[in-house]
Amino acid sequence: MAKRNRAKHEKVILVAGGAGFVGSHLCAALLDRGNRVICLDSYLTGSPANVDALQRHPKFSMVEQDICDEIDIEVPLDQIYNLACPASPPHYQADPIHTMMTSVAGTGNLLRLAERHEAVFLQASTSEIYGDPEKHPQQEDYWGHVNCTGPRACYDEGKRAAETLCFDSLRAGSVDARVARIFNTYGPHMRPNDGRIVSNFIVQALNNEPLTIYGSGEQTRSFCYVSDLVEGLIRLMNCTLNPEGAVNLGNPGEFTVMELAELVLSKIKTTSSIVHAPLPEDDPLRRRPDITRAKALLDWEPKVPLTEGLPQTISWFRTALAKNRATERR
Ligand code: NAD
Ligand code: UDP
Repeated sequence: MAKRNRAKHEKVILVAGGAGFVGSHLCAALLDRGNRVICLDSYLTGSPANVDALQRHPKFSMVEQDICDEIDIEVPLDQIYNLACPASPPHYQADPIHTMMTSVAGTGNLLRLAERHEAVFLQASTSEIYGDPEKHPQQEDYWGHVNCTGPRACYDEGKRAAETLCFDSLRAGSVDARVARIFNTYGPHMRPNDGRIVSNFIVQALNNEPLTIYGSGEQTRSFCYVSDLVEGLIRLMNCTLNPEGAVNLGNPGEFTVMELAELVLSKIKTTSSIVHAPLPEDDPLRRRPDITRAKALLDWEPKVPLTEGLPQTISWFRTALAKNRATERR
């Protein structure tokens, strides 16, 4: 490995999945703090547009590759964030075997890279490892309730296996690995056709199309604004003592799907109505993070309530959709 030789405050950080929704905000925040950032992404569900503004930054560079292929980075790395994995149900179910391999083989490749570089490693895990939870709210010591043969398993079980790889590497003393269990997060840079609830409802309302509620709309989710999540990820990566267990990161504010639809309709002038569509198989009924651990270890809690984050996200989508329409007209 090449000798580390740089200003003490400047870290070299690899962000796998950095061209995605969360990853692009994380790259920007790390650059803002004076770090050098290498973004590695296959553009499977991310986009060059998400990192367009960062490409001009002298400390930003981009590597286009799949994490399932062997990864070779020469420059000495201090930290590796692994966010590379499709996160929206229709996208991760489109090629389920590749999704599973991304979490297992891909995370394995990145952990080996972390070991070679003696870099601290952070895995973006998910509340989906709790499956359709029988305990509410979800604490980190709950083992979960996942159907390992259902259509969501490629994501849920892949992420569970990735957590296992991280904790085995930690126990073996080969990598200082940390695991963030991320709950539903929303904000600018979600793709209009991402398929997740917040982007679907906003795009539908802006286009005067009916909002599609899957099932009765009584199922719940807890929505975290992306800037809060990014702050939590950076704190977990940099906390001096490894928590030696996963840490939930999410906003405990819990809403039914119907409440979210009504909130979106109240914030956008639209002719949209509400329609119901079938509930996808294994769709979890309730989800809310217990964030006691993150509060105690990281002094972290979300600051942006849905009533503030939603209008900011709507305003970003309004501009993005107008840009798309202008490009189509050309
Ligand atoms: P996203 O789909 O916008 O971003 C994922 C990024 O990873 C994309 O840029 C994609 O191109 C890249 N990618 C996917 N597979 C890859 C591969 N095999 N090799 C290289 N790059 C690959 O999703 P997101 O919402 O930004 O989620 C980021 C991470 O956070 C994911 O790991 C996801 O599981 C986790 N997470 C997100 C949420 C959320 O609500 N946003 C919730 C829980 C967990
Ligand atoms: N959902 C919905 N309409 C949509 C998209 C999603 O009613 O257009 C529901 C979905 O069935 C689930 C919740 O919203 O109950 C959150 O779905 P999302 O795909 O955003 O995240 P996840 O299910 O992975 O938590």
